Amino acid sequence: SRKKLFEDSALASKLLTGDKAALSRGITLVESNQREHQAIAEKLIEECLPHAHKSLRIGITGVPGVGKSTFIEAFGSYLIKQGKKVAVLAVDPSSSVSHGSIMGDKTRMENLVTEENAFIRPSPSGDSLGGVARKTRESIILCEAAGFDIILIETVGVGQSETTVHSMTDFFLLLKLAGAGDELQGIKRGIIEMADAIVINKADGDNLKAARDARLEFKRALHLYPPKTSEWQPKVSLCSALEETGITAIWEMILEYKALVDKNDYFEINRHNQNKFWLLQTINEHLKSRFYQDPTIKKALEEQLKAIENNETTPFAAAKLLLSLQSL
Ligand code: GDP
Repeated sequence: SRKKLFEDSALASKLLTGDKAALSRGITLVESNQREHQAIAEKLIEECLPHAHKSLRIGITGVPGVGKSTFIEAFGSYLIKQGKKVAVLAVDPSSSVSHGSIMGDKTRMENLVTEENAFIRPSPSGDSLGGVARKTRESIILCEAAGFDIILIETVGVGQSETTVHSMTDFFLLLKLAGAGDELQGIKRGIIEMADAIVINKADGDNLKAARDARLEFKRALHLYPPKTSEWQPKVSLCSALEETGITAIWEMILEYKALVDKNDYFEINRHNQNKFWLLQTINEHLKSRFYQDPTIKKALEEQLKAIENNETTPFAAAKLLLSLQSL
């Protein structure tokens, strides 16, 4: 509507004052698949971009039940007490496929949502991982422009979403449970390799000894990995998100990391590399969606799939034919 459009033109200035309603509206526009919304969102991001670089982006991952929500609640509240403004975003591609997100609704962060200096936004839904990732990246910019200096980005420890979150964050924190069994099986090797910190959660009560043992095991395991480009030696620490222990040590570790990567320039270099990666990623997504949404291609693709079924063509010939149909 006209009125909405008029309001949206004042959105950037409101958002820049830290207005959370404006930030919400901005993210809604970023997440919308409607063309007119996308146009407003693009303009908004452009206006926000010059004000959006002073933050620390922390990725948090772990399997369902490891305690991500509880941890973010405890950690986020701690950071707010340190005078920070904390935004919590999520990347949960499962919600589009299963129509029920693995991460559940975020009403779980009951205390954090009531904080003036916290902003919590569930994962965008109804999209591919690529779509969700693009939207989250743009939302990060809006959050930063609104003055949020710590951005926590949560994702589930299944599938490709960790890699995606890793490629948009400065520090990557992997939550683990003691004795969960997948430590040394190498299944999650790639994820352990990405981690700047492994935090063993639920280190409380009867769990404490097992957690201490797991800590040693992870420490040993981490030494088997090649050194990181950041020159950071990943650390293992214990915490109880429920009892709020170990939280200060985690923040101090992150500050230590930040000091190192500021000094050796990795922080900036990594951000630049991420931006280059996202430039290419955005083009790929765009080309792909334009290709597959083209009605001519859609029809021809159906035909070629049939032809393959009937042994009338090869995948390569079919692909060549389909690609030749697109008008760039
Ligand atoms: P998520 O699925 O990773 O977001 O996990 P949740 O934060 O929802 O936590 C899953 C369950 O573990 C909940 O019942 C929490 O109360 C419990 N939990 C989370 N953190 C801790 C902790 O530090 N200690 C203990 N004992 N339980 C915890």
